[in-house]
Amino acid sequence: MLIDTHAHYDDSRFDNDRDELLQSLKSKGIAYVVNASSNVSSNAMSISLSRKFDFIFASVGIHPHDSSDFNDEVLDMLRSLSSNEKVVAIGEIGLDYYYDNVPREIQKSCFAKQIRLARQLDLPIIIHDRDAHEDTLKIIRDEHASEVGGVMHAYSGSVEMARELLKLNFYFGIGGVCTFKNAKKVVEVIKYLPMERIVLETDCPYLTPEPFRGRRNDSGYLVYIAEKIAQIKNMDVEEVAHITSQNAIRLFNLPV
Ligand SMILES: [Zn+2]
Repeated sequence: MLIDTHAHYDDSRFDNDRDELLQSLKSKGIAYVVNASSNVSSNAMSISLSRKFDFIFASVGIHPHDSSDFNDEVLDMLRSLSSNEKVVAIGEIGLDYYYDNVPREIQKSCFAKQIRLARQLDLPIIIHDRDAHEDTLKIIRDEHASEVGGVMHAYSGSVEMARELLKLNFYFGIGGVCTFKNAKKVVEVIKYLPMERIVLETDCPYLTPEPFRGRRNDSGYLVYIAEKIAQIKNMDVEEVAHITSQNAIRLFNLPV
């Protein structure tokens, strides 16, 4: 049993075969999927997928790329969506200084306001941090995000930053990048992290693991990530599957 803690099945790349693909996931050993939202329309789509499929859960939030659309009305929408029992987190939220699509001050304020919402609702957060490690850590601290905790999705920071984030009650989402040939940094992080803080994710349709890099990703490829972690940690893949699933259940308060 594996749990995909970060997927985007609302993406248009699944339009032709979404239902068929989702229906096939249980037979591929996938127990649960958390569909991460990024903008107003994907929030609605995540909720409707979670209603249609018992094993799909939703996170609601506005991605840094879409933070220019964030306002009080959107905040109220997120609050009302999160009353749905299948909503397990606020995300994905955070900062993206790699693409820098939106002025940084706007990204920061959108991130901070959604952390406040998560604290009001007592929901964990799913963080997107690309090339913004310092400001991400600062906002996590300033907004007391450790009260709710959450996961650093597609973690790309250093071992030193991971040490700080462990103290702040965070989990680490490990995906396809750890299978790539140039993945030295994330491999070091995986070696360092306690197994109790690692969760698996695909970020599908993106970041397909080797040996399938370049294809469209889906939760069926999660096992390749578990195998890579097993290899790095010198463990059985079954053990990696079991521990990471228990972690995801604890993090998102999923049914046992
Ligand atoms: Zn994502």
